[in-house]
Amino acid sequence: MLENIRIVLVNTSHTGNIGSTARAMKTMGLSSLYLVDPVHAPDGQASALAAGAGDVLAAAQTVATLEEAIDGCGLVVGTSARSRTLSWPMLNPRSCGRKAISELPKHPVAIVFGRENNGLTNEELQLCHFHVCIPANPEYSSLNLAAAVQTLCYEMRMAHLESRDELEFNDGGEIAALEELKSDYPLAQDLERFYTHLESTLSKTQFIIPQHPGMVMSKLRRLFNRSRPESQELNILRGILSSIDKSITK
Ligand code: SAH
Repeated sequence: MLENIRIVLVNTSHTGNIGSTARAMKTMGLSSLYLVDPVHAPDGQASALAAGAGDVLAAAQTVATLEEAIDGCGLVVGTSARSRTLSWPMLNPRSCGRKAISELPKHPVAIVFGRENNGLTNEELQLCHFHVCIPANPEYSSLNLAAAVQTLCYEMRMAHLESRDELEFNDGGEIAALEELKSDYPLAQDLERFYTHLESTLSKTQFIIPQHPGMVMSKLRRLFNRSRPESQELNILRGILSSIDKSITK
């Protein structure tokens, strides 16, 4: 099941980090690695650091854009070491693991990691339903990229073992029941089509002025990502937009 979790690295500079990521993934039972526009293709340094995870590295898919990497995913989580101007629905690594495992039977899940020097852009973060921050030392909270991947993959594994009742907790701690997923959520590309449609309709009604778009689309993305419309609800919203389009062109 864990192979349906995609680990997506965006624009990585150091090939060693790509290799270490493959190793971090394989030790936790994950295997699906996507490289978005890496600065250098995986090389000897990557293979050396992948060690026994050369198979995960060899099977890594390289794509040009983040949109391609998350194509087909129903849950997309972005990772960030710092808070951004536009705050987004947050998960901690543990709740992220549980959420991912509970949704996996329905659709692939993507966890997106940023550049070593400056993380993910706001546009990239806005393609995500949730953001996850590893609650590290506030005085120095930026983990090495592969260490951040390891931490998230470990939480995925723990949630997976927990869900299979393989793990006995002896500390008396309570294990939250995994929420059962009843709804069908739209895939990343369907949500993108909706946002494109929304922006186009709002431009036609002149609610958005293309020369001065401001933060409206970002705030609307946050609103819809937070409420996570189900597939049927998204169809209704698309229908509403089409009806507005029709009445404007009449
Ligand atoms: N200097 C960059 C940090 C990049 S670290 C910045 O300010 O954003 C490279 C990547 O590792 C980040 O993009 C993120 O994907 C991951 N990462 C590092 N520390 C993290 C943390 N505390 N929580 C979540 N992800 C983290």
